[in-house]
Amino acid sequence: MRFLCAERGAGACQPHDKASLDIFWLKDESLEASDNLPKLSLTPMRSYGPENRRQKRQPQHQRSSVEVDVESLLSIENRCNGCAKGERCCCSSYEVCVTTMELKRIIKVLPEAAKLCPHLLAVGGYDNVFEEEEPGLFSIDTTEDGLCLFAYWSHHRIHCSLHTVAVTLGLPLEQVKPKVCLLWPMHFSEGDEVLAMINDAFLFDCNARKAPGSRSLSPGFVEAIELVYGEGCGTQVKHAAENGDRRTLLVTRR
Ligand code: SF4
Ligand code: SF4
Repeated sequence: MRFLCAERGAGACQPHDKASLDIFWLKDESLEASDNLPKLSLTPMRSYGPENRRQKRQPQHQRSSVEVDVESLLSIENRCNGCAKGERCCCSSYEVCVTTMELKRIIKVLPEAAKLCPHLLAVGGYDNVFEEEEPGLFSIDTTEDGLCLFAYWSHHRIHCSLHTVAVTLGLPLEQVKPKVCLLWPMHFSEGDEVLAMINDAFLFDCNARKAPGSRSLSPGFVEAIELVYGEGCGTQVKHAAENGDRRTLLVTRR
């Protein structure tokens, strides 16, 4: 099945085959072993990005339920082929934040990511990649152009090294790529904590308005919700859309 970059946002976003995501499941215990982690500095990051950069808001992973604004998600279709130079890109438009667990998983694959993103390397180790924004939440630093440090250019398009590494190593995307990037252009609205379409979505060329009245949810959204919240969650939202429900409450499985 063709998977239209649910890892959207991400930049990376090479279209890929969903089946390839399920080859190998990295067990959480192995992720906790920190003794072999590459050396990583957590000193303050450089700040070259746009001053008014908004956050790709962190999904509420710890919550046992998530409300989804189905109607909002039905209004948009996303097709990611990676951005070309000059195009507004989700990998340079937001401050991307990850949890401690996500950070540990990313650090495990830094050597692989650095093969695609040599700017991650510094003398004797790795450059400053993360900055702690608040306890347990870390933002990813950017290049001088404001592009996420994990982005790289290939065939004149922006790609996500974490996405590429996950596919290459046969790891589940949600074990490597930030969940906010998996979900984009879905995100959590400020204040009411509802999963909905991000309100600047149509500023990006890869997002298009769907015909009014469509009750068919973008397959990429179904896949992304499934990856982030667990098996059956994407299908639940899909069925809610088909049944005409405006909202649905997910009991998360991750
Ligand atoms: S981690 Fe960075 S490069 Fe990868 S999708 Fe997110 S913003 Fe883009
Ligand atoms: S803005 Fe759209 S096309 Fe560009 S990387 Fe993000 S999801 Fe892909």
